[in-house]
Amino acid sequence: MPEIPEIETVRRHLTEKVQGKIIQKVEIAREKSLNVPGDIFAASITGQQVVSVNRRAKQIIIGLANNHSLVVHFMLEGYARFFYAGEEAAGTPSVTLTFHTGEKLSFFKLTLGYLHLAPTVKLADIPELAGLGPEPLSPEFSLDIFRQRLSERRAMIKPLLMNQEFIAGIGNVYSNETLFCSKIRPERKTTTLTEAEQSKLYHCIRDILALATRLGGVYEEKFAADDILTGGFEPHLKVAYRTGQPCYICRSSIETKRVGGRNAFYCPVCQR
Ligand SMILES: [Zn+2]
Repeated sequence: MPEIPEIETVRRHLTEKVQGKIIQKVEIAREKSLNVPGDIFAASITGQQVVSVNRRAKQIIIGLANNHSLVVHFMLEGYARFFYAGEEAAGTPSVTLTFHTGEKLSFFKLTLGYLHLAPTVKLADIPELAGLGPEPLSPEFSLDIFRQRLSERRAMIKPLLMNQEFIAGIGNVYSNETLFCSKIRPERKTTTLTEAEQSKLYHCIRDILALATRLGGVYEEKFAADDILTGGFEPHLKVAYRTGQPCYICRSSIETKRVGGRNAFYCPVCQR
């Protein structure tokens, strides 16, 4: 599932390629991905200009001129792909928007994900975005706030990092990477973390998410034919999906085990 760096990469691409353009045609192959009937959805957004593209947690909010927004959640498999005018739009998209320029934006594999139409209100008031924890890259997310929130929980640290009510936008890949960076075992209880470990973890979260965002994350689906950004962080992964390969620091084999129902990847020597 895409996490903050991957969704930020999509947001940047959408801002560059789609913002300011007018939706001329809407094709819906999977009405189940919507929250309103297809004809109402199409009628509501046809002729509308895209005025903004924002992100909250793992969701993208595409603002339209008529004070409505499209809220996109890719969940496990979904992705967006942009096609230039004249380019053949390959594959079987769930929903395709054609712009006045002849360019297309297709949303694929929205089987678990969705494309919802919502009135543009404050982001926090959109039901899909309610109850989410703080954005880890926001200026408001300070070390003090992180410590305070940790002190209110008694949980294993890796599942907690992936809990969207605790912090928004972190999933399996970056919970593994930030715990390796801070030398903390994924199954450690929050109550056992020292102040130094809490501080290290906080800075690892900020640094890794920021670097991964700058480098285009690890998401493998390209946004457009000339996309050279997406996936640029992949060579920088230290533990995620590296089971059996040597740790870059101590050369021990990276191990994997189930923690909180998900695969944890860790170095048995570096992480304590
Ligand atoms: Zn190691």
